[in-house]
Amino acid sequence: MRNCIFCGETVSDKTKEHIIPQWLMRLTGDPNRQISVGLKLPQLMDGTLGDNPFRQFSFKAFQFPACSECNSAYSDLEVMTKSIVEKILNNEDISVKELDILMDWFDKIRTGLWLGFMQLNKNIANIDPKFAIDKRISSKDRMLAIYKFDHITDGINFIGSDTFVFQHLPSCFGFRINNYYFLNISFEFIFSKNLGFPFINKSTQIQDTDNFYLELKDGTNKIKHNVLPKPILDGNLHFVQPLFSNKSIICDNKNKNAIKEFYSHNEFVNNHSLDIDLGKGAIFIKKSNQSYEALVQNEKTINFSSLENLSTKFSLDTWSKTFTKMVYEYQNYLIKNYSYLHAYDNETKKSFKKKINFSVHYNKTMVKMYYRQKIR
Ligand SMILES: [Zn+2]
Repeated sequence: MRNCIFCGETVSDKTKEHIIPQWLMRLTGDPNRQISVGLKLPQLMDGTLGDNPFRQFSFKAFQFPACSECNSAYSDLEVMTKSIVEKILNNEDISVKELDILMDWFDKIRTGLWLGFMQLNKNIANIDPKFAIDKRISSKDRMLAIYKFDHITDGINFIGSDTFVFQHLPSCFGFRINNYYFLNISFEFIFSKNLGFPFINKSTQIQDTDNFYLELKDGTNKIKHNVLPKPILDGNLHFVQPLFSNKSIICDNKNKNAIKEFYSHNEFVNNHSLDIDLGKGAIFIKKSNQSYEALVQNEKTINFSSLENLSTKFSLDTWSKTFTKMVYEYQNYLIKNYSYLHAYDNETKKSFKKKINFSVHYNKTMVKMYYRQKIR
């Protein structure tokens, strides 16, 4: 991959972007340490895995091309995110605006890891990437769940970003930063319907592409008690946000205006959005078993003090296995239920099905082996 990791264009004025930023490496240990960035998939496939199945990398080497313009545009996001992550690690409140920025950053990291692993694994899943980071930031419904596990050595772990499912559908992964575990899920309109927002009524493949025309339908204007399509582990604080910008939907100019009109005329959407022009719904918060509450003011603060310390319930070994299992199973659930298979012609459907079955089987095998990454 020679293209810019942000805009996807050919890089003329070449710089390098660290997928895992330097500030995060410093915050989580020795910045010059080696980190494990997942299994060596090509070696796994041809049976030459050997004694050291994990790919070790110094974070400095885990970098990819970027245009200098894109790189500097995104450095603001990194600066803001650093202070937000520090606040969370220090048990300080953050604002809704900061949470929104943090979710943007997760979009960035998730997509960066996807492109990064594609390169590291020599594109073993044979993907033709249709988007880079730009297109995936703030563009599709997203969820961030935060879990706390005290009494653990500082460090970072990626969970599920090195699977075949993630290569085909980079929509769900886990991430540990010191004593916090994050589960991040993003897919177009995946939470919208259950949040009472407009949802996809019909999807049609655009000829000769992997893109779809999405036809939307007005929602129910009612927020369900559970909006996640599949439950996640208890003990978290989580946030769900519907997104409906121009980036969310493949459309031409005429369609763009129609979509804008469609949303801005919807009173429920208006009352439950952070910024309707940017296509940003409210951030819906769920505390333990209560109903979702829509946060519509950027200034409102979020407090993490209610977050349960899961180290009182689980040993570290059990917790990391349980968390990993959740990520792998969620990935399997998503690829089986959200891949637009129905819209493809029979031949494409058949070859996709084969890839999906293989990827799902891989995740199942890994869960069975109680696979987990060891990063120190
Ligand atoms: Zn660029």
